[in-house]
Amino acid sequence: MAQALLSIGSNVGDSAALLRGVRDAFGTQVLGASSLYRTPPWGVLDQPDFFNAALLISVDDTPEQLLLRCQELEAQANRVREQRWGPRTLDVDIIQMHVDGEEVRSEDPHLTLPHPRAHLRAFVLLPWLEIQPDATLGGRRIADVLAEVDREGIERVEPL
Ligand code: ATP
Ligand code: CA
Ligand code: CA
Repeated sequence: MAQALLSIGSNVGDSAALLRGVRDAFGTQVLGASSLYRTPPWGVLDQPDFFNAALLISVDDTPEQLLLRCQELEAQANRVREQRWGPRTLDVDIIQMHVDGEEVRSEDPHLTLPHPRAHLRAFVLLPWLEIQPDATLGGRRIADVLAEVDREGIERVEPL
């Protein structure tokens, strides 16, 4: 048994529908879904705002299997990889994963866990806080991590 926190984002196409499609694809494996947020771009600033959300899921997959499922969902959304941190129809990142109650840690660039930039991103932490307020990242409560990052311009839009 495993639990994972996914951060999902989109800024091309019908972003809300694409994010809802991810939630629906995990179906009964979804333990919690955040609201939908509208967020300023990160890393590459000259692109449309993103829509982001977080999902807490319960799965039987290994981390590698879950990554493949996430990448399949991106492919189904016709994700094209052009520019690092550039515009995309769908991005599905595994932020944190527990297998049999143990947090998975990996420094493999193909699947790094916890996600190496999660602690810098209000668009990950704010939705995550909504569904898992007691979660910790790097040994700290995520509310405390969030307090140190810029959350300007992030707006809750509506339920996912
Ligand atoms: P960022 O990783 O900074 O959020 P990105 O999501 O735009 O950037 P992608 O182009 O979607 O980056 O992914 C690049 C690679 O990152 C993927 O091919 C995947 O193998 C790898 N990767 C490493 N760790 C993770 C993770 N925790 N979740 C998803 N992908 C990961
Ligand atoms: Ca990402
Ligand atoms: Ca990604």
